[in-house]
Amino acid sequence: MTQVAEPRPADAASTAESIGHWIGGQRVAGTSGRSGSIWNPATGALARQVDFASVGDVDRAVAAAAAAFPAWRALSLSRRTEILFRIRNLVDAHRGELAALLTAEHGKVPADALGEIARGIENLEFACGVPQLLKGGFSEQVSTGVDVYQIRQPLGVVAGITPFNFPAMVPIWMFGNALACGNTFVLKPSEKDPSASLRLAELLTEAGVPDGVFNVVQGDKVAVDRLLEHPDVAALSFVGSTPIARHIYETGTRHGKRVQALGGAKNHMVVLPDADVEMAADAAVSAGYGSSGERCMAISVVVAVGDVGDALVSAISSRLPKIRVGPGSDASSEMGPLITREHRDRVAGYLDSGAAQGARVVVDGRLDPTFGGEGFFLGASLIDGVRPDMDCYLDEIFGPVLGVVRVDTYAEALALVNDNPFGNGTAIFTRDGGAARQFQFDCHVGMVGINVPIPVPVAYYSFGGWKASLFGDTHMYGPEGINFYTRAKVVTARWPDPGTSHVDLGFPRTR
Ligand code: NAD
Repeated sequence: MTQVAEPRPADAASTAESIGHWIGGQRVAGTSGRSGSIWNPATGALARQVDFASVGDVDRAVAAAAAAFPAWRALSLSRRTEILFRIRNLVDAHRGELAALLTAEHGKVPADALGEIARGIENLEFACGVPQLLKGGFSEQVSTGVDVYQIRQPLGVVAGITPFNFPAMVPIWMFGNALACGNTFVLKPSEKDPSASLRLAELLTEAGVPDGVFNVVQGDKVAVDRLLEHPDVAALSFVGSTPIARHIYETGTRHGKRVQALGGAKNHMVVLPDADVEMAADAAVSAGYGSSGERCMAISVVVAVGDVGDALVSAISSRLPKIRVGPGSDASSEMGPLITREHRDRVAGYLDSGAAQGARVVVDGRLDPTFGGEGFFLGASLIDGVRPDMDCYLDEIFGPVLGVVRVDTYAEALALVNDNPFGNGTAIFTRDGGAARQFQFDCHVGMVGINVPIPVPVAYYSFGGWKASLFGDTHMYGPEGINFYTRAKVVTARWPDPGTSHVDLGFPRTR
């Protein structure tokens, strides 16, 4: 969770490169005198500083977006689509460069960073279909000589506030559809890895997006709170942790804005006794430790049902020493560092609290040779015998610490999933189609995998959890994204012969 930044110390300001904002089609330095540090998580070195926007900086970005809105909205759909295709192609052409920025500031290894860009490109491809997506309905002759049709129109200036763990993909989730629908956009990316946002802004300009249509303000709570209350911001999309998502939803809606706020997660993977244990173990390891567990769709808890527990824990733990932990600059690395030293230490703390509360640490990632160096590394860790009252179960760990809860029955596994306050993703591993279908029917979770551990929907469905994982009515991207970034207008029209006109004070009837 971000704190309001301190004024920048003079020595850091003089040595580190400074990342500023993107307003009205150009890079703009901050004016607040406040900034944050960006670390290279693989080395622990201070890499650059990021300017934190003042209220005035945010107001300038919103003013630029508001000024650009009438012309962008009025552009023909085919011209907007042409620009979207160019954005898609430029992001594709620069995918290696963008991925390198993610590796440098987030720490994720290149294969993972390239995967993030690839999923973002799929969202841009969906947005390229906007002429089809914005087609409304038309009903002829609803009454004599009367037709009715619905059109969807953009909202105006919309804002996006995004988390550190997907510095390119989550902004694309938002701005692809928002711009396609004719809105202008102000992005407030994570202050921990902001460089990809500025490179994306440059690519959008190169693609032909007019100045002011897409803006970026860097910063912390000051910038976010100004966006939440700014009278010219019509809607806000947020992705991040649950306490901030709740704050965004409550404050934004109080100020009359449309808000979708996606929060944290605690994703359970239920393994039934009939599952293929080796396949389930591969899936648990891939989904638990990919991106060092810093994914909102990461598997955090394995629920072993019946007698599958011993074999499953043994199969998972046998895979962990083979995971190559290291910096993204080493082509053999499979798992990179965590985002900050403080976060790494907090994650490692669950190994101590888990043990103290009666669980068994099967694999301790602090024994990995990368732990204890300058980089923010923690090896893959496994805790067995986790109970629902333990801190390692109650909290979203957001790191490479996977817990195993053992239960006797499917009903107990389902109760665990449904009693959890989060409802982002879940998965079931089984060879029994009937059991899988029952789970899909029963579980209170927004995204469900059947023998698929990370069921992130493709771009033409929508992404979102239930319960404390989403505040608002609309999921993100896909068809629900188009709905979120537009509002419907229904037109009732007739072209009568003036000679038939007369006064009728009765309520309009259709028959
Ligand atoms: P975060 O909530 O700390 O920050 C998210 C954004 O909110 C950032 O831009 C940050 O600057 C801003 N912010 C932070 N504190 C704020 C405050 N007090 N007031 C106003 N704005 C504030 O989240 P994070 O650590 O960057 O990302 C990790 C979290 O995001 C995890 O909880 C993860 O589950 C969640 N996440 C959810 C999804 C999803 O789709 N549900 C996807 C990715 C990440």
